[in-house]
Amino acid sequence: MDLPVETPDQKLRARARRVIPGGMFGHLHSNRLPAGYPQFFERADGCHLWDVDGRRYVDFMCSWGPIVVGHQHPVVTEAVQRQMAAGDCLNGPSARMVELAERLVGLIPHADWALFSKNGTDATTTCATLARAGTGKRKILVAQGAYHGASPWCSPNPAGVTAEDRAHLLTFKYNDVGSLETAVQRAGDDLAGVIVSAYRHDYGLDQELPDPVFARRVRELCDANDAALIVDDVRAGFRLTLRGSWDLVGVQPDLSAWSKAIANGYALAAVTGNERFRDAASKLFVTGSFWASAVSMAAALATLDVLESTDGPRRMRDMGLRLREGIAAQAAAFGIGVRQSGPPQMPTLLFDDDPDCAKGDCFTLEALKHGVYLHPRHNMFMSTAHTEADIDFALEATKAGFAALAARMPRGHGS
Ligand code: PMP
Repeated sequence: MDLPVETPDQKLRARARRVIPGGMFGHLHSNRLPAGYPQFFERADGCHLWDVDGRRYVDFMCSWGPIVVGHQHPVVTEAVQRQMAAGDCLNGPSARMVELAERLVGLIPHADWALFSKNGTDATTTCATLARAGTGKRKILVAQGAYHGASPWCSPNPAGVTAEDRAHLLTFKYNDVGSLETAVQRAGDDLAGVIVSAYRHDYGLDQELPDPVFARRVRELCDANDAALIVDDVRAGFRLTLRGSWDLVGVQPDLSAWSKAIANGYALAAVTGNERFRDAASKLFVTGSFWASAVSMAAALATLDVLESTDGPRRMRDMGLRLREGIAAQAAAFGIGVRQSGPPQMPTLLFDDDPDCAKGDCFTLEALKHGVYLHPRHNMFMSTAHTEADIDFALEATKAGFAALAARMPRGHGS
């Protein structure tokens, strides 16, 4: 017998179970979150999000990265509506594609050209293919545990993946020069490229910024072996800086993959590259029915306007620091050990002695009840729409989260 369904979210879940595999697929499945999180959403505005049950949250996931200047930002919305009225999916690209490529080439030091697609996986896959096409070699080095997308060559899930799909991948440890050198040696004279995340943002782990010594060594080894250095900036791009995340450690890649924040929620990805790979890129057959659509490119141009004119990365950093410092003070006051890692624009909060994330779940669920949407394991995302008042509201919710946790923990729990 079916359980009685009550709320709109529960009703939608019941309907979805019949017509959508697993009721939802992929990383947005709410069963990856503590029970009590919503699955379906109704609308969003600025840094606020409403679920289908009408509950409002200050949102610290920003749609898992794409929303960078806030939902419905008027400058982006205006550009989108103007382009929509003119046309989106045409027989070829609009002028927006050239304008956007010019813009990226002007902003990003390593970029001499850009090509466009739709999702982060499109962009990282194109980078790997391009590294092979440009060098005539096969091996790609990937950091253990790094996420580069959902295709068989990079998916973290083994279902449907064959050994052949990964035959030419070799792994190393992020920020570990020794393991990188070993992997380069193993690739021998067949090294096509090394792909690195902007920083180490693996799921459920403390985040690690790139060690400049490691970053410079990646560059040297790619140069010495005529291989491509690929930065996967899909998650961090346009949040830490507009120039490419490894610019912050003084290292320029040959190729970069971008998506998420590039168009404030409109579907767009980009690959940027230097002169060395221009010829190979021009010969590659990369395309898709929607890859030249103009609306998302208009949205990207407007998003970059807003990020540049408001010094977006600094604004997100300031608000992220306000949140981080507030949480650190609360954790100390409650005597609960937490670890906050990663760049302030992309906060990650994990609890000490929390192997199964029970503390993280309890804390974030309590914050959710107080109108703040946090993630217990994944890095979160700031947007330029978060104000001091939103952060202070969030800190009231995190205080309630710590109180709920303290009430559940035995006295003298310490860290
Ligand atoms: N690379 C990184 C670093 C990512 O975070 C993601 C998405 N989480 C991807 C690639 C894949 O992007 P998409 O989900 O848009 O295909």
